[in-house]
Amino acid sequence: MSGGRPTVRLGHLYPDHLNIYADRGNIAVFRRRLEWRGMALEVTEVGLGDEMPEDCNLYYLGGGQDRDQWLVAEDLAAKADSLRRAADSGAVVLAVCGGYQLMGHSYTAADGKRMPGTGLLDLETAASRDRLIGDVVLTVDLDGRASTVVGYENHAGRTRLGSGCAPLGRVEKGHGNNGEDGFEGAVSGRRIGTYLHGPLLPKNPWLADVLLRWALDHAGAAVELEPLDDALEHEAHAVATKRAGLKR
Ligand code: GLN
Repeated sequence: MSGGRPTVRLGHLYPDHLNIYADRGNIAVFRRRLEWRGMALEVTEVGLGDEMPEDCNLYYLGGGQDRDQWLVAEDLAAKADSLRRAADSGAVVLAVCGGYQLMGHSYTAADGKRMPGTGLLDLETAASRDRLIGDVVLTVDLDGRASTVVGYENHAGRTRLGSGCAPLGRVEKGHGNNGEDGFEGAVSGRRIGTYLHGPLLPKNPWLADVLLRWALDHAGAAVELEPLDDALEHEAHAVATKRAGLKR
């Protein structure tokens, strides 16, 4: 609680290193959607060498290029046990692109060198020569609700999921995890990874609310999320869908 208001505590991992394409905008969405409903977001930034807080309700890792991932990978691997304990207690983890790759077991970068991941998601990634770039439309079934999710991808990594997680969505348009199997992202309980950024949540308010509902549940705040006027967000979603070449 913050001044008596239900509060979500968010741990923002490596905001100085993993913040490509303004992925930080996703956090602004969490904050505004809570504030519009009389609730609050408290952000703890976690950088290199900082202690990993285990009491957050939501953890966020943005995207970054290989060189940024190299800078944080060892440090993150050392924090993995703390993050795993928090996730096992029901905290939400949202990891985007470079952050998504580091949620797997390891990432083999374009130079062939392998960096450690956290292993919080059962997946492996290896960079390829060519990049998978462009608008993406997914069909996603999450928390008993089905919807489309739109975004933008730009990655050299090809991600293959193990049996311990499921894809986040089916690719309607775009490349997804590896450009071959027709799936994008990964889900295991409340741990979510995706290649979609740009940022992801402003155009997909539905997904933001699923994550906030989970985070509030972890915070012990039994609140219903009242609907918001998402006309602008839906328009942005429609424009992104159209730009991807799909009519909805
Ligand atoms: N370095 C990774 C890749 O190119 C991630 C890129 C990103 O976060 N945009 O595969």
